[in-house]
Amino acid sequence: MACCHYFAPSDGGDEAFAVEGATVAFGAGVLAEAGDHAAALGIRRVALMTDKVLAGLPQVAAVRRSLTAAGLDVVLYDEVRVEPTDESFKAATRFATEGNFDGFVSVGGGSVIDTCKAANLYSTYPADFLTYVNAPIGGGQPVPGPLKPHIACPTTCGTGSECTGIAIFDLLEMQAKTGIVSRRLRPTQALVDPACTDTLPKNVVAASAFDVLSHALESYTALPYSKRAAPKRPSQRPLSQGANPWSDLGCREALQILGGNMVKGVIEKDATDARHQLMWAATLAGIAFGNAGCHAPHGMSYAVSGLVRNFQPDGYPADAPIVPHGMSVIVNAPSVFRFTAPACPDRHLQAAGWLGADTRGAGEADAGEVLAGQIIAMMRATGVPNGIGGVGYSVDDIAALTEGSFPQRRLMDNAPRPISKDDLAGLYRSALAYW
Ligand SMILES: [Zn+2]
Repeated sequence: MACCHYFAPSDGGDEAFAVEGATVAFGAGVLAEAGDHAAALGIRRVALMTDKVLAGLPQVAAVRRSLTAAGLDVVLYDEVRVEPTDESFKAATRFATEGNFDGFVSVGGGSVIDTCKAANLYSTYPADFLTYVNAPIGGGQPVPGPLKPHIACPTTCGTGSECTGIAIFDLLEMQAKTGIVSRRLRPTQALVDPACTDTLPKNVVAASAFDVLSHALESYTALPYSKRAAPKRPSQRPLSQGANPWSDLGCREALQILGGNMVKGVIEKDATDARHQLMWAATLAGIAFGNAGCHAPHGMSYAVSGLVRNFQPDGYPADAPIVPHGMSVIVNAPSVFRFTAPACPDRHLQAAGWLGADTRGAGEADAGEVLAGQIIAMMRATGVPNGIGGVGYSVDDIAALTEGSFPQRRLMDNAPRPISKDDLAGLYRSALAYW
């Protein structure tokens, strides 16, 4: 397909890309549809999964009411861990196995939705835990067949997990963040209710929206599918297939929405319409990165969140230090896009323009700086930390951060240019502070 020179054929590269969608119902109040969708999917006895904090909030109550009104037998599981681990995945699996459910509903952020995907998988196809986990850490075995129906209800405008076949967790014994990736994990139905964002604290909206922004930027600038080695068999084409014309559509629209609404949606508490737009951008970017895959800012983020010492932002639980996912991603982003711009400068410039940068007179050599400058301006306007230094790291941590993220091959190899270990250390060094 010669629709764009970025996708020009290459020797040994894949010759086709997959178009995979998610099934989404989007609209304020849509959580009240959960019962009808569940009944239509044939669910009678349902596991309702969430975390301890959300369990007491109106969103979970609304979903539960709807499921009960539809005549379903509902059992609540509120033990999901924020930033899940293999242990918390296993605990949810035990609950799912013992409960004998014929379907699942998850209400929460990425941690809840991902945990529900894993519980559905391991209770449906029991196996040693590492069997389906990404190689080389796990066995990378394909999921044997379809899972039980899963209705995912995101409560933040960030992860896009409701649209993807990815479940991320910390493998405790190796202190590594890894995941399970299979199109079979994609929820059967997503119910995206933008009203969930109305009461979110400012920092939570900022972190979520920057996660969306990076999903869209990384998918748009990822290695093109035509430069990724062709799979041995077409049915083995990876879910993270690289940038492609289908994911481009969602990225472009998401970036334009973010350019117009993000700062307002974060800093103005009553900017309901802007926040609802951010939820739509999250959905679009979720579909896009679920098909294209992210690259280095996400690959680097896992070490930034995993090695946290004492950072505790407002709006998050005060019981343990945390670098929220979106913050751990965006602190790397300007540094990465300065580095990747020479691989596809026109894409970096286009993206900067969609986000609101003035690109008049900018040439290819300026692309990385223009995009990085626009991201930095948005970071400053929304009050997020100034680089990895802003979340507690110094030059002394660069070796550990590099060791922690270099093995993230699924993500690092999806960048538009190769990243050596020295390159990666340099990327962290350039991410220490931006202003
Ligand atoms: Zn993310």
